[in-house]
Amino acid sequence: QVLNEFLDLKGNIRVFCRIRPITVGENSSRLSTVITLDSSNALLKLAENKSKRYSFDKVFHPGSSQDEVFLEVEPVIKTALDGYNACIFAYGQTGTGKTYTMEGTPDGPGVVPRAMEVLFKQAVDSNNAFLFSFSMLEIYLGNLKDLLVPQSTKVTDPLPPSLSVQTDPKGGIEIDNLVSIQVSDFNQALSLYRLGRRFRSTASTNSNIASSRSHCMIRITMTCSDAPERRRETNKIWMVDLGGSERVLKTKASGRRLEEGKAINLSLSALGDVINALQRKKSHIPYRNSKLTQVLKDSLGEDSKTLMLVHVSPKEEDLCETVCSLNFATRVR
Ligand code: ADP
Ligand code: MG
Repeated sequence: QVLNEFLDLKGNIRVFCRIRPITVGENSSRLSTVITLDSSNALLKLAENKSKRYSFDKVFHPGSSQDEVFLEVEPVIKTALDGYNACIFAYGQTGTGKTYTMEGTPDGPGVVPRAMEVLFKQAVDSNNAFLFSFSMLEIYLGNLKDLLVPQSTKVTDPLPPSLSVQTDPKGGIEIDNLVSIQVSDFNQALSLYRLGRRFRSTASTNSNIASSRSHCMIRITMTCSDAPERRRETNKIWMVDLGGSERVLKTKASGRRLEEGKAINLSLSALGDVINALQRKKSHIPYRNSKLTQVLKDSLGEDSKTLMLVHVSPKEEDLCETVCSLNFATRVR
């Protein structure tokens, strides 16, 4: 029932907002004056412009738990078991909680580990024979890098050759030579996820900044040949911790840092363009404009489920970036 509601009533694309809490050491006095949450839990107002409201399928306030967030994500995981392709994105300025949402902490696991747990559990409960495989890659400077292949994580070393993306005659996407490892339980999937995180590109000693320069993508492919009611025999679910959305031209970045920022900004706007075109049922969907949208082409479409989790900061000094993120959300909704 929940699934039908997701499929029929709300369309295929849902956009959520999550507001990060003020963390220890931050001055919280101005928090409530920047963003206010409407009683509906789906509308946001900004203090600077009270008449402008931003609407979402749901807004998670700073006190919302990982449990509350996952409750809204879970229907997408379940539609994936029914054979639908799905994409779950964490979008936002660096430091707004994308990785907190996707990866989580040991005390509060995020979307990725919870999704993997649910997939294996439901597959067992369904009594059908599912085969799962796990892949993990990074898009850094438009370059596709396999995160399950041990390699240098230093930016001073030359980038390895990019994996290439191929379209098969049926419109399916293949990433040449991407490692895809069959996993038979949650713990195996979790170990690969941990392994993949170690091979991410590192741009500085501050790991939060470093991870913001690339998109980190997890792909779980599932095949089930003994369930004729499934939408397709083989389908996939992507979980993507996007690069930081802050506009790099406004900062004093130069050199490699500027290139990194430009690449991220370009691919995020290409992603926004694709989702916007899908929402408006345009005849041309501009998948070709970035590596990110090329890779996701067969998983971002009419017949796929998309979840965009837009993250914003509660701080007044971040208001400009918050407005930009809310505008992105409006564009894809
Ligand atoms: P991003 O990946 O967007 O750069 P992070 O997920 O690294 O941001 O979050 C930045 C900091 O804020 C981290 O220390 C993280 O633990 C903390 N944080 C983010 N969101 C939350 C939240 N909802 N609750 C508690 N702490 C959070
Ligand atoms: Mg991060």
